[in-house]
Amino acid sequence: MEAVDVLIVGGGPAGASAAIYAARAGLETLVVDRGLGTGAARLIRELENYPGVVSTSGEELLETMHRQAKSFGARFAQDRITGVDLDQEIKTAYGNLDLYSGRALIIATGSMERASSVPGEEELIGRGVSYCATCDGAFFRGKTVAVVGSGTEALEEARHLARLVAKLYFITSKKELPGEIPGEVVAVTGATLQRIYGEGAVQGVEIRRGGSLERIEVQGVFIYLYGNRPVTSFLRGALPTDQRGCLQVDSEMRTAVPGVFAAGDVLCPETKQVVVAAAEGCRAALSAIRYLNDLKKSAGS
Ligand SMILES: Cc1cc2nc3c(=O)[nH]c(=O)nc-3n(C[C@H](O)[C@H](O)[C@H](O)COP(=O)(O)OP(=O)(O)OC[C@H]3O[C@@H](n4cnc5c(N)ncnc54)[C@H](O)[C@@H]3O)c2cc1C
Repeated sequence: MEAVDVLIVGGGPAGASAAIYAARAGLETLVVDRGLGTGAARLIRELENYPGVVSTSGEELLETMHRQAKSFGARFAQDRITGVDLDQEIKTAYGNLDLYSGRALIIATGSMERASSVPGEEELIGRGVSYCATCDGAFFRGKTVAVVGSGTEALEEARHLARLVAKLYFITSKKELPGEIPGEVVAVTGATLQRIYGEGAVQGVEIRRGGSLERIEVQGVFIYLYGNRPVTSFLRGALPTDQRGCLQVDSEMRTAVPGVFAAGDVLCPETKQVVVAAAEGCRAALSAIRYLNDLKKSAGS
């Protein structure tokens, strides 16, 4: 694929805002996103604090941002980036389906990194193991499922699932549920997930509670244990990160590699908000535009 002017990895609020600015400046802009269902923004059921929008959902706001970016000519591709090459002037990102290159690169992959941790999880992804109730909940209508986690994300997802499924187990290592969940929910507190079992599809989970192992039969398991880590493992050391894996940028969203910028939750800001991510996406795009203009000028001189 020929190099575009601005290649953006991640199409959440940060990446989409960057795309709006880059494309509107007349630059050929491509956003590669692994599927919007996997970002933080789509988890926001009710977004009431984005200035200028009284009430919306994260998903709806993202759709509008994408439409806006496309209206200026930005293109979107669905693929998961698994590696990069930042050594040349043209930056390359390797996806599962294709490779993508750009004269400038903006990384906006958020902080929803997940790592497989229990036996059976990896093998049964898409066969009953899910990380997104909004995306997959409908497949479990009338069935028995477990939500595993202790935070806000798990709670929000359980609330969504409770409206669909016949029976919901909420498995948490804490002593209490993180909040109220309407409907029939079986609270399994003080328990840790040990294993997911099933032949070709999830048949149940094994948990440890009070020193003993127990099995719970479920057809689906929604896991919210590993969120909140910046999505930077695909960089494989090509850019410096801090101990937590967070990317670092200067005041103009520039990373240590010229032509590579970053924005949004992948920077682990203290305030993780859509408005902050969108603003950083704008700043990253403006910096990329300046960088490309400088490149052009030096090529002409
Ligand atoms: C449950 C919950 C509720 C929240 N509520 C609010 C709220 O009410 N108001 C508010 O302002 N903020 C809220 N937030 C925070 C807000 O969602 C984030 O701050 C914001 O979405 C960050 O935007 P981002 O673009 O940096 O990351 P994300 O929204 O996470 O987007 C990152 C994108 O990168 C893509 N991506 C990741 N890795 C790859 C890869 N390897 N290849 C290709 N694409 C990739 C993902 O698919 C995703 O689309 C909430 C967050 C959560 C989890």
